[in-house]
Amino acid sequence: MSTPQRREELAARLAAVRARVDAALAAAGRTDPVTLVAVTKFFPASDVDVLTDLGVRHIGENRDQEASAKVGELAHRDRLTVHFVGQLQSNKAGSVARYADVVHSLDRARLAGALDRAAAREGRVLDVLVQVGLDAAGERGGAAPEQVRELADVVGGLEHLRLRGLMAVAPLGQAPRPAFARLRSLAEQVRADHPDATWLSAGMSGDLEDAVAEGATLLRVGSAILGSRQSHR
Ligand SMILES: *Cc1c(COP(=O)(O)O)cnc(C)c1O
Repeated sequence: MSTPQRREELAARLAAVRARVDAALAAAGRTDPVTLVAVTKFFPASDVDVLTDLGVRHIGENRDQEASAKVGELAHRDRLTVHFVGQLQSNKAGSVARYADVVHSLDRARLAGALDRAAAREGRVLDVLVQVGLDAAGERGGAAPEQVRELADVVGGLEHLRLRGLMAVAPLGQAPRPAFARLRSLAEQVRADHPDATWLSAGMSGDLEDAVAEGATLLRVGSAILGSRQSHR
């Protein structure tokens, strides 16, 4: 159970983030909607329940063990779309396919195959984004930009995965906006071959304005809504 103080804190933080998103959309002259994914990693199911009461309909998680346990505890699972946004090992595909609706972090063909077979076993079709590594070192995960179209074709050919678009995390120590612009142009190339791949997942607590300016349709926002993860480790 969450305390009244925690409810108030989450309500205030969420309202502030929604205001930032609205301002960013207005600044970009956009009238199309953006989906706010509350990244709830490190925080308990009780916080997710509060956010659900506050109108949040999308949550994100980045570690399989934590996510599978937490999703099982939610009071309102039926009202939520669950996004898996973290690096994923092929041997976790079976578990993720059970509780996730959207996977943002598809970065190699082998994982696509594992996820497709797992989704088939569950009788489900998963929405998938190909993650692009925008930093040269690849330290924030993702496929190399020159491999993205080929990987998109692989995902697009699988029966139990639905290719929805691309995802990226801004490189550390660089201005996010040019990186997101690069992501956007890659997404346009993928869309030429896959017209339904219209989703663009970019933008976190620190750079959501830049992501909105470059056409993000999904924002993955953790600490700005839930507070510092440091105190929850
Ligand atoms: C944790 C995480 C986020 C949220 O980050 P914040 O800076 O807390 O908003 C977004 N995307 C991914 C892939 C993450 O792992």
